[in-house]
Amino acid sequence: MTLGFGLWPIADKAVLITWMSIMILFNAGRWIVGMRFPKGFINEEETYHWERKLVVFVAISGFLWGIAGILFYVPDQPEYILFLALIIVGMCAATTATLSFHRFAFPVFLLPAISPITLNLMSDNNLVANAVGFIIPFYFALLYQLSREIYRTANESIISRIDSQHQAMFDHLTGVANRRAFEEAMDREWYRALRDKSALSLVIGDIDDFKSCNDTYGHAVGDLVLEAVAELLERRIRRGTDLVARIGGEEFAIILPDTDLEGALTLVNSIRVGVRHLAEAYDKEIPQVTMSFGVSSLPPDKSCDTEILFRCADAALYQAKKKGKDRVESIDNTPSLSSVEQSFI
Ligand code: GH3
Ligand code: MG
Ligand code: MG
Repeated sequence: MTLGFGLWPIADKAVLITWMSIMILFNAGRWIVGMRFPKGFINEEETYHWERKLVVFVAISGFLWGIAGILFYVPDQPEYILFLALIIVGMCAATTATLSFHRFAFPVFLLPAISPITLNLMSDNNLVANAVGFIIPFYFALLYQLSREIYRTANESIISRIDSQHQAMFDHLTGVANRRAFEEAMDREWYRALRDKSALSLVIGDIDDFKSCNDTYGHAVGDLVLEAVAELLERRIRRGTDLVARIGGEEFAIILPDTDLEGALTLVNSIRVGVRHLAEAYDKEIPQVTMSFGVSSLPPDKSCDTEILFRCADAALYQAKKKGKDRVESIDNTPSLSSVEQSFI
């Protein structure tokens, strides 16, 4: 707008109005597209898609400003030339902060926006215009440095935030989800199962006689066993929505969305056999261990909650330990819940 008013006396009115209309339409379109940017978490594919859009919009915007530096450049009108240069250079400088959050958005905008006016100024007959033209590249080289610095700092702070979020949700020893992440996932999957009317299974596994394993081989070897078990569990789960978590010292949980008891039992039995052969298969030297598992499965029902599912799996694990360890016990379906609950509260 300022550009339009300032150049009105000398510019070709039709050209000026056309350029301003294109600019307004382009910015309105950019705003409408920007409104559709998804809130919250976006996956890698979406990120790539939006990054492409951003780069295209930024480049078009740069070209539109670059065109202004050609269309409205009137060689024998130094005061208008300097006004035009001031608007374009000032506007480009102002984008340093807003475009520095992306690796190369700033130069993608800057080069097409600033080059035409700079070249025009450099080749003008007016000495002041030449001086301004030659200063602009140095000025923007400094701004580019500043932009890199902003990008680096912003990136580091994002990475450290992700890192601390990661530390808050993952077990530091085994790398699988921790208890907090497990509880959040349970709530999430419970509501999802309720909405989709699908089954939800929960497995709790506990390493047998782990105390004596620690006592015999030492705590460091115990830690290796925990790592090996976590790795095995992660490898055996099949779907992206399944989740393995370390919920206690030598206690692990597996959340199996959209899985009924039969499916969960098949998986857990194969895991139990896998644990028995873990010492042979693992690349570091660890003692042979076994694991007991409790499985509970429920078609989610508004009258139940995640705590009941957890208590049932825990109760089943207790039975597995009582019946001699290295085995899988299960508790299924809603009607039998109350009796199981009562006996283990
Ligand atoms: P059970 O078969 O009944 O489960 O017996 P258990 O010995 O496995 O169970 P208990 O609860 O008596 O002992 C658990 C042991 O797990 C005791 C503790 O030292 C060990 N433990 C807990 N967390 C860790 C850990 O992070 N690293 C190591 N190495 N050991 C751990
Ligand atoms: Mg144990
Ligand atoms: Mg235990």
